Amino acid sequence: MEAGMKNKSTMLGSVDALCDRSLVPRERLPELAQVAARYAVAITPAMAELIDPGDAHDPIARQFVPDARELAQRPEENRDPIGDDRFSPVEGIVHRYPDRVLLKIVNACAVYCRFCFRREMVGPGRGGLSARQLAAALDYIGGRPEIWEVILSGGDPLVLSARRLKDVVRRLAAMAHVKVIRVHTRVPVVAPERITAALATALRAGDKATFVVLHANHPRELSKKARAACARFIDAGIPMLSQSVLLRGVNDDAATLGALMRALVECRIKPYYLHHADLAPGTAHLRTTIGEDRALMRALRGRYSGLCQPTYVLDIPGGYGKSPIGPSYLSGDADSDDGWMIEDFNGRRHAYPPRR
Ligand code: SF4
Repeated sequence: MEAGMKNKSTMLGSVDALCDRSLVPRERLPELAQVAARYAVAITPAMAELIDPGDAHDPIARQFVPDARELAQRPEENRDPIGDDRFSPVEGIVHRYPDRVLLKIVNACAVYCRFCFRREMVGPGRGGLSARQLAAALDYIGGRPEIWEVILSGGDPLVLSARRLKDVVRRLAAMAHVKVIRVHTRVPVVAPERITAALATALRAGDKATFVVLHANHPRELSKKARAACARFIDAGIPMLSQSVLLRGVNDDAATLGALMRALVECRIKPYYLHHADLAPGTAHLRTTIGEDRALMRALRGRYSGLCQPTYVLDIPGGYGKSPIGPSYLSGDADSDDGWMIEDFNGRRHAYPPRR
């Protein structure tokens, strides 16, 4: 079979496979092999189908095809950019905020994103929690009545079988104080065939609320199959939210970002978080600046429906949590007699009277 003619339904899990599909030129293999030795590589058939190999700036390829610039690590970048380790009392748990915990049950993903903030922790064969570790993590949650919400994360929890997910969800649902189970995943867009009725059912338990938060960064990711996969969750009674990462050359223009938010809302998915990319090693070429991102948020406001407005957030390096860092439309001083000035979406400023 000729290069570029391999079966399109094959998972691309090495730089050789990417080369065979004409996604990287053969002369770059040695340097990309160094990248792949450090950070996992995988592109699912669904994502490979979306990539135009003739477009050197393809926004889907940019998210998944390795780049030699990943070998350069800046001083401000580190392997744990949002400080998970500081808040991990037992293996698999991150307990940063009082009323919720992350439960990282698996360290594998369906794809490996080049900007991933956990890129040094995830990869094929990295496993996940053993039965004993899972029991200890669940004991931790069970012993803390202040934990209202559990966020299943990883890696990507939806690479696990419906049977394993059902077991974890059932054990969480047995805890009276856990009211909400949230699942963070990229699978509905990158491997939509995995979202079966059985998997959707596995995530529901009793009277607990389950939310699925989809990670998607470009409107093309919301393919027909991805939309159908999301509909299977929503029609099964699971509301969906989204999170996206602002990435240079992927979604850092208002038209693309607006189209992404509209595509999500059209799928009945409420845009939730828009992340400033974290200081993960070797990702500087993909990061935008906070100033650029705030300008994009201003461009969305007013020109796109309120349903299309995510909250732009930064995870503060060191583990201090997320803070909204979007533009402010209000200026003035609460104690002043002059009142407030409020900017409208066209940039015009308006006075709002002080409270007498
Ligand atoms: S799917 Fe999520 S955890 Fe996995 S590589 Fe992508 S960003 Fe990282």
